[in-house]
Amino acid sequence: MNISDRIANISASPTLAMAAKAAAMKAAGENIISMSLGEPDFPTPAHVKQAVKDAVDADMSHYGPVPGTPGLRAAAAKYMSGFAGQENLFRAEDIIVSVGAKQSICNAIETLVGKGDEVILPTPCWVSYTEMVKLAEGVPVMVRTTMDNDFILTPEALEAAITPRTKLIVLCTPNNPTGAVYSSENIEALAQVLKRYPHVAIIADEIYNQICYTGTCATWATQTELLDRLIIVNGVSKAFAMTGYRIGWLACKDQTFIKACTRLQGQQITCATMVAQYAAQKALEGDLGCVAEMTKAFERRRNLIVELAQDVPGFKVRSPKGAFYLFPDVTALFGKRAGDKVIRTADELCEYLLTDGHVACVSGAAFGEPTCLRISYACSEEQITEAMRRIRAAVERLK
Ligand code: PMP
Ligand code: GLU
Repeated sequence: MNISDRIANISASPTLAMAAKAAAMKAAGENIISMSLGEPDFPTPAHVKQAVKDAVDADMSHYGPVPGTPGLRAAAAKYMSGFAGQENLFRAEDIIVSVGAKQSICNAIETLVGKGDEVILPTPCWVSYTEMVKLAEGVPVMVRTTMDNDFILTPEALEAAITPRTKLIVLCTPNNPTGAVYSSENIEALAQVLKRYPHVAIIADEIYNQICYTGTCATWATQTELLDRLIIVNGVSKAFAMTGYRIGWLACKDQTFIKACTRLQGQQITCATMVAQYAAQKALEGDLGCVAEMTKAFERRRNLIVELAQDVPGFKVRSPKGAFYLFPDVTALFGKRAGDKVIRTADELCEYLLTDGHVACVSGAAFGEPTCLRISYACSEEQITEAMRRIRAAVERLK
């Protein structure tokens, strides 16, 4: 069959592709440590598992409202308002629940972006933003941030990228893949610029906001003057170790947007899985101590991996302030030889680390930064220690 141009033009998710490759190698009996996927390894909290059982027993097996169940929308509104420190900032009607934050972002882009519209993406950025923009026939406008500036977008770079065709900017804090966390001052500085350009909408992807090592994570939701064109994305995948439940949501104060986006979702999925929505509701309403515990464990892992990575020759490392990714600059290794083969790029280094070191990572090129590698540390301290031992040994074998 002939595939449409729209789909032929998008690439497969490199994070998922690498995870699948590592899984296939493991299944074939190879001893691979997979640090490719951003997926917490913790079990789902017990009270959430119980909620699933209750939902099944209560026959929550029928269609529900398109934008989500009233219970989950109310719980998400409260949860999101809490981050902004403003009770009732968001109400249930400001929330649309989707099949993972991935779908929330995709739907928001689809709802706002038309053919030729420009979407500013500070890079490095999560692999799916560019393809989602292309799917909507928009034009991704990549604006590079650098390690020297802690991968924070500057107001000057933002302003220089805005044109009359700019429709949207997608910002991510804490950031995948860099681990950068925007302080309230960083957000304020960018907000000052955006206030001057009312034609630009903003998606703030804050899916990692609970996994933050700098104390409270600043949120775009405090930017009250921007609320009429701001969409904030969150979900249960990362904070509650519930990636497979596939529940995420967006919050937006513009009801015109909410209605349009709900129309799209109604033609697309009807609603997210009812049992999973109930489980997510109970996660948000329950004791958040489990989230804090997991974040503490991530912080210990962060400290461990940073320490070990500093001993890998050729790795230039910044300590991530949030999320669970290490993003070292590896350019010092380009030009080195593995036997007959010269390692020229992060892709080639990644391939070498997989085949020779038996550790799966993702090339920074997938995130728009070909000087770096992404190593996910959402795995045990034992695995981190062994993986970094293997990486170091493999790098030391390069000539
Ligand atoms: N945003 C970012 C930055 C992510 O890393 C992910 C991880 N998949 C998502 C959104 C989507 O998360 P999910 O669909 O699992 O809710
Ligand atoms: N967000 C995770 C990652 O970056 C999961 C995979 C994906 O959805 O891309 O690894």
